[in-house]
This record gives sequence, C-alpha cells and structure tokens, in this order.
Amino acid sequence: MDRRTFLQAGLAGLIGAGGIGSGWAQATPEAIPKRILWVNRAQTKEEGRVLYYQDQNLVQDGYYLLCYLLRDVQAEQITRMDLKLIDLLFAMQAWMRTCGIRQPLQIHSGYRTAQTHAHTEGAAPCSQHLSGKAVDLRVDGIPPAVLAKLAVRFKAGGVGVYPHFVHVDTGPVRVWKG
Ligand SMILES: [Zn+2]
Repeated sequence: MDRRTFLQAGLAGLIGAGGIGSGWAQATPEAIPKRILWVNRAQTKEEGRVLYYQDQNLVQDGYYLLCYLLRDVQAEQITRMDLKLIDLLFAMQAWMRTCGIRQPLQIHSGYRTAQTHAHTEGAAPCSQHLSGKAVDLRVDGIPPAVLAKLAVRFKAGGVGVYPHFVHVDTGPVRVWKG
C-alpha cells in the first residue's frame, strides 16, 4: 500500500467508523477559531488559501475573495456565496487534513449565471448553483465516491456523485448518482 492509498484508506475508515459527527460543521466558533479554505480553479489557474473566519467573525476580505474564486468564470460574474456552503467545504478539507491529505479543493463549478447554467450539460433546472449554494469539486487522488461519503456525513444538503467530480449544495438533504 503506497502512502496515498494508505491515506485514502484512512479517510474512508474514519468516515465508515462514524468518526464525523453530523454537528461538526456547526461546531462552535470557539472550537474552530480560524478557518482557512484552500481552493483551486483549473479553468483560470487561480489558487488561494483564504482566511475567511477568525475570532468569531467573518473576515470580509477573505469572504469576498472566496466569492471571487467561486464565481462564474465563463460569465465573469460574482455572487454572495452561501456561508454554510463555505463552512461545509472547510469542514471537508479539515477532515482530509486529519488524514494527512493536503490538497486544494479543485473547483469545477461554483456560482452559475442562468446563461452559463443553460449551457451546462446535464444540469438540473432549479440548480442551487444559480443562487451560490452549490459547488462541483474534486480532490487529486480521492475518488469522487469517497469524497461524496465524506460530504454526506455533514448532512448539510445535497450530494451528487459524478464520474469525475462531486456536487455539494446546501439545499434539501439528498443524495444522487449522476
Ligand atoms: Zn453541481
């Protein structure tokens, strides 16, 4: 078992063992005083490790930078991304880090304007992407199915597993396979 396989097994084991409490994403700010999200956009070659929450307060500049990084890169439009969604991404990344996986979240798609959405193949008509409440992502070396299992644990909303990415949103809790 090489290191990566070992780390993946560790992550899957943690998920399987029920090590992640559903309330973890809503943990008290005191428990997680500093929240940094590491994201990457392949389309624009942008990457950022962004501090967006500190000392029980939203860091406005960091939050806006994340909204920028999660924007519709085709239309070059920004919206206010749902903070609950950002916290979910943070929580997923924090859990991966506990398993030794230090990778940015590769964002395929975040916010989508109606026009971009209309041109997205296979997209649902009432997508949470339109209101800044959804992200399609992948992480190098982690199969989408494992990433989806991790996301489901937080019960934060919808989780869709696709061959090359995972969709997460903060709409109604549901799971599907794309
Ligand atoms: Zn999606």
